[in-house]
Amino acid sequence: MASVRVAVRVRPMNRREKDLTAKCIIKMEGNKTSITNLKIPDGNAGEVLRDRIKTFTYDFSYDSMDSKSSPFVSQEKVFKDLGSDVLRAAFEGYNACVFAYGQTGSGKSYTMMGNPGDAGLIPRFCEGLFTRIAATTRWDEASFRAEVSYLEIYNERVRDLLRRKSTQTYNLRVREHPKDGPYVEDLSKHLVQNYSDVEELMEAGNINRTTASTSMNDVSSRSHAIFTINFTQAKFDSEMPSETVSKIHLVDLAGSERADATGATGVRLKEGGNINKSLVTLGNVISALADMSQDGGNTNLKKKAVFVPYRDSVLTWLLKDSLGGNSKTIMIATVSPADVNYGETLSTLRYANRAKNIINKPTINEDCNVRLIRELRNEIARLKALLVQGNQIALLDSPTALSMEEKLHQNEARVLELTKEWTNKWNETQNILKEETLALRKEGIGVVLDSELPHLIGIDDDLLSTGIILYHLKEGQTYVGREDASTEQDIILHGLDLESEHCRFENQNGKVTLVPLGGAQCSVNGVQVTERSQLNQGAVILLGRTNMFRFNHPKEAAKLREKRKSGVLSTFSLSMTDLSTSCENLSTVMLYNPG
Ligand code: ADP
Ligand code: MG
Repeated sequence: MASVRVAVRVRPMNRREKDLTAKCIIKMEGNKTSITNLKIPDGNAGEVLRDRIKTFTYDFSYDSMDSKSSPFVSQEKVFKDLGSDVLRAAFEGYNACVFAYGQTGSGKSYTMMGNPGDAGLIPRFCEGLFTRIAATTRWDEASFRAEVSYLEIYNERVRDLLRRKSTQTYNLRVREHPKDGPYVEDLSKHLVQNYSDVEELMEAGNINRTTASTSMNDVSSRSHAIFTINFTQAKFDSEMPSETVSKIHLVDLAGSERADATGATGVRLKEGGNINKSLVTLGNVISALADMSQDGGNTNLKKKAVFVPYRDSVLTWLLKDSLGGNSKTIMIATVSPADVNYGETLSTLRYANRAKNIINKPTINEDCNVRLIRELRNEIARLKALLVQGNQIALLDSPTALSMEEKLHQNEARVLELTKEWTNKWNETQNILKEETLALRKEGIGVVLDSELPHLIGIDDDLLSTGIILYHLKEGQTYVGREDASTEQDIILHGLDLESEHCRFENQNGKVTLVPLGGAQCSVNGVQVTERSQLNQGAVILLGRTNMFRFNHPKEAAKLREKRKSGVLSTFSLSMTDLSTSCENLSTVMLYNPG
């Protein structure tokens, strides 16, 4: 259980307010925010004074009015207080949501996105995410997957801000998944590997947003923008697999003045009731949730009495989890300091005050298989303890002890199987991510490069070359030749006696064959080959006079290792060439890591 955390932030006076010689009516002290109604004369006490100055307490009150004053709260400070919590939540596997609420021009976009050189929460969060990923990957051997999507809701319709060729602009459908809840159908999701990937997407999305805004009469102040990061983290934690998924929503809401349906001007009325629907519903949802939590401990009454109208708008439906559900949620209410905005500012402060009462139920989103593995392991530990006890009181031969032992073995086998399944699944994810069947891991001071596919490792005769080249030999054909070949070559090489179309590798059902083309110079383990010849684990291949490779077949190697273990194969018989006398790591290349 966790309440929605609420921060209020006041921006500097803008040009218009200064031109109107507006007076500042906002005062912040600690986490308190006060607003003064200048229409009520000063100098009274009691009731009247309470009407003149209203004070609210939030989790944070951020004074960003004057960058030269001492209580000034910068973008960095906002990120340190709020953004780093969201970051922590992401790494712990919780969902999180930050939404900015306030009238148009009060600083929502500034707080969420920021200006060039003065980044807001979203870019700072993403940068922090990748900084931490880099640090964790280095020390923990954890792996990560991050996906970004960015959408806009305008007039109850959803638009993908990251779709490049968008002919149909505003009509993505919102659907409901039986387990995962509401989602936007066909919303594009973009894998991101580093911060600059995110930056690029963010920029494209923002441009998309403002372009529509100028051509369509200030859409951006009337639309809600939701930037979402799906973040998966997998690792082995003392040999126990762990996988968590968290969804982070960062939301820049439409100007709150649009929520006030009664105050709609003629122009806005013409656009129909839709324009405010999401914001009005958000208000209703917040009210309902606040009422619910204030009903106190009486759970029965609570459930019957309060209906939360999530389904009434697209925004609330999509953010259902963030409001009263499985999420750590933060609201930032932004306000103007000027007396000319008294009405709107007071209503924002009240809104924020109500949001404080929402209680969420964040839980760690653990992969279901991983949870099962953990439960089984606990059960194994329990059974083992029981067996030890049984041993002590000489119960071991009794039928109970036997069945217990049986159960223990069953559980252990299941854990092994599940762990293997999980590892495979995660490896697969990682492979798709990298589009390669490669994994790097540390071993002592070395770095081991693992691959599951048959591959060639370049053995370069150039003393000055330091990189390591690995070519995968995928199922099917891999062509090797020069750049100037008339057909496209999969592996491009240069060097003495290398033909433009030199040879091809055929990988069929796990059998890899080298096929020399048109009399090209190919040799395997020092023997010239002119016909197709099947390759075995560890073979050394020379193409032309200078391109030398070691052929690795990880699956075959694994089988050979099994045989060696059971004594069918002697270590000696595995040594195929002088270059591969060590059979310890047949499918892996050890790179010496001097650091
Ligand atoms: P909104 O998104 O709520 O409509 P903006 O974020 O676009 O409002 O802010 C309106 C203007 O005020 C922008 O020019 C923005 O740069 C400026 N602004 C808002 N908040 C601050 C702040 N805390 N410090 C400095 N400038 C701000
Ligand atoms: Mg804005």
